[in-house]
Amino acid sequence: MGKYARVTHVKVTFEVMAKKLLIATRNYGKVRELARMLDNLPFNVVGLDDLEIDFEVEETGSTFEENAVLKARAYGEASGELTLADDSGLVVDALNGEPGVLSARYGGEGLSDEDRVQLVLKNMEGTSGWKRKARFVAVLALVGNDVPNGLVTTEGVVEGAIMHEPIGQNGFGYDPIFWMVEHTKTTAQMTAQEKDQVSHRANALKAMMSTLESLA
Ligand code: IMP
Repeated sequence: MGKYARVTHVKVTFEVMAKKLLIATRNYGKVRELARMLDNLPFNVVGLDDLEIDFEVEETGSTFEENAVLKARAYGEASGELTLADDSGLVVDALNGEPGVLSARYGGEGLSDEDRVQLVLKNMEGTSGWKRKARFVAVLALVGNDVPNGLVTTEGVVEGAIMHEPIGQNGFGYDPIFWMVEHTKTTAQMTAQEKDQVSHRANALKAMMSTLESLA
């Protein structure tokens, strides 16, 4: 049993017959989030470790879509399975779109999530009010033999604003400084279930649902 057994255990009885769906990320937060949202579909959801795929794909693209497609193609080819990859990040207007595709590496390798949060706050000193607008963006790419034209991509966006200081303990990455105006809280103050309803990945997955349903 691989590391994803916990999120797929309710489907154990389907596993023999259900089609495999590889979620091509090593970020367990994302795997759990996507697996929870896919729970109603009869896929046998597996992760890279379950298939003993241990190589990394370099994210050399200049857009979220390019990176998601790079990962989906590479891991789809390696596994031979229906493969869903994502690329996502935080886009801040006042920082000319940064951290953007560099969200996971903003400020260089070796920084923690907290360090990157502090770097965004520092780079936004002197920026106030509506100029602190930002969005989380996620692109999903699905590849596989039965996928229409071999590749389907969808994008999900969620609008918000950057706080002046971190608030909240949940989530990961930039969640403590991402304020969702209509929810009057940061995404780090949301429960996982609340965030599943409104997140950029949820929106991208909703757009992917009809394709996934047709393949299940
Ligand atoms: P990826 O793994 O290359 O897609 O990098 C995504 C990076 O964007 C993460 O490491 C986080 O820093 C940031 N990010 C993406 N989605 C979220 C989210 O839902 N909350 C907080 N940060 C996020």
